[in-house]
Amino acid sequence: MLEPGVIKKLDEVVVNRIAAGEIIQRPANALKELLENSLDAKSTHIQVNIKAGGLKLLQIQDNGTGIRKEDLSIVCERFTTSKLSKFEDLTEIATFGFRGEALASISHVAHLTIQTKTANERCGYKANYSDGKLLGTAKPCAGNQGTIISIEDLFYSMPQRRQALKSPAEEFQKISDVLAKYAVHNPQVGFVLRKQGEQPALKTQANSTRSENIRAIYGAAIAKELMEFSCKDDMFKFELECQLTQVNYAAKKAIMLLFINHRLVESAALKTAVDAVYSTYLPRGQHPFVYMSLTMPAHNLDVNVHPTKHEVHFLYQDEIIERIKQQLEAQLLGSNTTRSFYKQL
Ligand code: ADP
Ligand code: MG
Repeated sequence: MLEPGVIKKLDEVVVNRIAAGEIIQRPANALKELLENSLDAKSTHIQVNIKAGGLKLLQIQDNGTGIRKEDLSIVCERFTTSKLSKFEDLTEIATFGFRGEALASISHVAHLTIQTKTANERCGYKANYSDGKLLGTAKPCAGNQGTIISIEDLFYSMPQRRQALKSPAEEFQKISDVLAKYAVHNPQVGFVLRKQGEQPALKTQANSTRSENIRAIYGAAIAKELMEFSCKDDMFKFELECQLTQVNYAAKKAIMLLFINHRLVESAALKTAVDAVYSTYLPRGQHPFVYMSLTMPAHNLDVNVHPTKHEVHFLYQDEIIERIKQQLEAQLLGSNTTRSFYKQL
């Protein structure tokens, strides 16, 4: 006889761990969340320190606002945030974070320590967290204004996940990739990435320019072929800023940095459109470097689509992509005189 299963409510720790595993899939996801928190806190210097691809240690130090001492007891609980209070606020959200899940998630899958000092407090405080809760009390400590978040032994509580992430070198590469993209998009902020005890693997100065950062991070071969263009569209209400390589540059590896309303996101549709435009100019299997920053009214963008916030939906997507394609086509045509000569024939 076929017996139906008995339905039980899952234990809260299990629920939280499952949710956390969706948001924090690998060290680079954790770093993205932490970088966004530091940027939300108006930091101008952000330093990241890594051991074993972030699996042993992922530490981020910023000089932002810090966290108030009285908030330290709840900061790692799920759905505690200083950024959103009503659901309606989501339509005009200007911060990266909004749902207070990142620190909570991390605390469910790693050992998390926060050291922080605000401008108003005389000293800093240091606190340890596990499964969303403060362990003991926050202890006074010395320190500069800002926050240091240390994540140790990521996925200690999820052995399969831990095992699947075998290569620290690969994880470090992904971390470096995320940091590089944020550094290009935020040239006003100085970033440093290093493996513990080593010279910086990546470094940008505060108040530099985007093209300086592209040169420093992605190299001279790309920097010297870059062209910059921007456009504004009143009909579909978007603005676009680009730095992309001219058709003389081509590489095996495609590099695309896409920010929508300053969020690092992926858009398969936009990527396909860009590839299609370049494909008429580049040899088969060769790709450009493309940085694009698209901004639109916050109420046209749905950021709450995916747990990692990697994916967003926006109004007039097809129309906007079509316009970007046209703009790009015009720019590339202008960048290659021989080609435009042939096209006119
Ligand atoms: P969210 O960013 O969605 O609010 P998080 O879990 O990422 O959720 O962070 C919870 C809260 O902790 C934030 O709302 C913010 O008040 C505080 N916080 C986290 N990181 C920092 C930081 N680096 N500097 C200052 N405050 C921070
Ligand atoms: Mg956050």
